[in-house]
Amino acid sequence: MPGALVESAATGSKAKAAAPSGRPPRRDLYIGGKWLGAEVYAPNINPSNVNDVEGEYASASERDVRDAIAAAREASAAWKHSSPQQRADLLDTVGTEIMSQSAEIADLLAREEGKTLPEALGEVVRAAKIFKFFAGEALRMHGECIASVRPGVRVEVTREAVGVVAVITPWNFPIAIPAWKIAPALAFGNCVVFKPAELTPGCAWRLTQILDRAGVPPGVFNLVMGSGSRIGAALTSDPRIDAVSFTGSETVGARVRQAAEQHWAKVQLELGGKNPLIVLDDANLDVAIQCAIQGGFYSAGQRCTASSRIIVTAGIHDAFLDALVRNTSQLVIGDARAAGTQIGPLVDARQLASVREYLEIGRREGASLWMADESRSGSREGFYCPPAIFTQADPRMRIAREEIFGPVVTLLKVRDYDEALSVANDSDYGLSAGICTRSLAAAEHFKRYSEAGVVMVNLPTAGIDYHVPFGGRKRSSFGPREQGAYAREFYTTVKTAYVSATG
Ligand code: NAP
Ligand code: MG
Repeated sequence: MPGALVESAATGSKAKAAAPSGRPPRRDLYIGGKWLGAEVYAPNINPSNVNDVEGEYASASERDVRDAIAAAREASAAWKHSSPQQRADLLDTVGTEIMSQSAEIADLLAREEGKTLPEALGEVVRAAKIFKFFAGEALRMHGECIASVRPGVRVEVTREAVGVVAVITPWNFPIAIPAWKIAPALAFGNCVVFKPAELTPGCAWRLTQILDRAGVPPGVFNLVMGSGSRIGAALTSDPRIDAVSFTGSETVGARVRQAAEQHWAKVQLELGGKNPLIVLDDANLDVAIQCAIQGGFYSAGQRCTASSRIIVTAGIHDAFLDALVRNTSQLVIGDARAAGTQIGPLVDARQLASVREYLEIGRREGASLWMADESRSGSREGFYCPPAIFTQADPRMRIAREEIFGPVVTLLKVRDYDEALSVANDSDYGLSAGICTRSLAAAEHFKRYSEAGVVMVNLPTAGIDYHVPFGGRKRSSFGPREQGAYAREFYTTVKTAYVSATG
């Protein structure tokens, strides 16, 4: 098989890179309806070209975090009881504004995260639609009226805002994930303290600017940027926080859960995945290849729903592998913002080093590695990693069990559907799972017996709708589902009221 390991020159850490000319714009924190500066500003580096600094972003202190929580608490009493129409109008305006700036925000997203422009635009449009969806949900805060077992008494079950919500997000969907947490939080009358990933502050800041201009009342929404390991504890362990919605790694998620539970805050965690894509003998080969490439390599594999295990039955294995290698060799790797790029860089040097380490681990474990040609990636100034395929792998290997979070797939050859299902379910994770088959019986069986929160039939494991629930099982998720109408479960609390007509 052709291919070689990429040796990128981009090993410098983000903090060391310098702006090519002039001073990049400085972006402040947003606390209590005011923009506030900080002592320290961190550069936002373009992973496609480390010489490009998009901006410098204020690093919040622990004091800033406490101030943001205090501002949110103060605003909470009024916002909780604000008119649903006010909240719907705010979210609707935000959605419209994101949409009208979508090209510009997509460019920013591609520049700070490394997603290709079409992918970035898709994510921005999705964020806009999420705000529109939750604008409608603000008007649908319905409850139930149930006859009491006591004569003359009526029981009302209603939902109320939880209070102050801490929103902590990862870098890989820098606008969609904040949108799917912040929009429902605000829709149902909660105040928010938002801590985006340090690697992607740009989209978070733009979203904050849009919320500010849309007229969010002071304190209802606050932005604190900076390193999670430094200010994370100040946010999650503060007893004035009523709920924490977190998306990120399992390790940090466990820490967040522990800190929040210390003071009885509600916790929702969306964590990692090791998502299987099953390809059965009777699959449409073209569809299966598209699913594997889309799910395995797009967004440089940096998606929690990426198909990192491809489980292929013996009859189609060789034909599938040949076609996968052929198609993967054609992928255009390069600057995320260049026309025609299909695979952009990884987000930073640490992520690149971690993916490379997994390539070594797989080789040491005895798997064979095929990699796309390094010369296909244009620049050496970014954190590029060509798509890679492990074959001759065993389900017990670390490359088949641990999240790699890069453009790397592990092919696992199995006898038949039964073995494929058992290998697919043999994971600590259970986020998304896919199957490519023309058999209705196999598809139906897989839908019922897959131990994942999201199941895809003849579709990539990544790529989800914005108006339906999203989440996983096992170590992939904790707490109520996100998105769609199901989001209300986390962002509201239930009240049961008994009313006697003879009072
Ligand atoms: P991460 O390192 O866990 O960081 C997530 C967020 O937590 C960041 O904002 C981070 O801040 C912050 N943080 C770090 N330490 C903290 C602490 N002690 N207390 C509170 N917050 C803290 O994850 P990541 O590397 O950004 O994202 C990749 C991971 O996210 C992958 O595992 C991926 O599978 C997962 N993910 C899951 C989903 C899903 O829906 N299931 C979606 C996307 C991604 P800093 O940025 O400053 O470190
Ligand atoms: Mg960046």
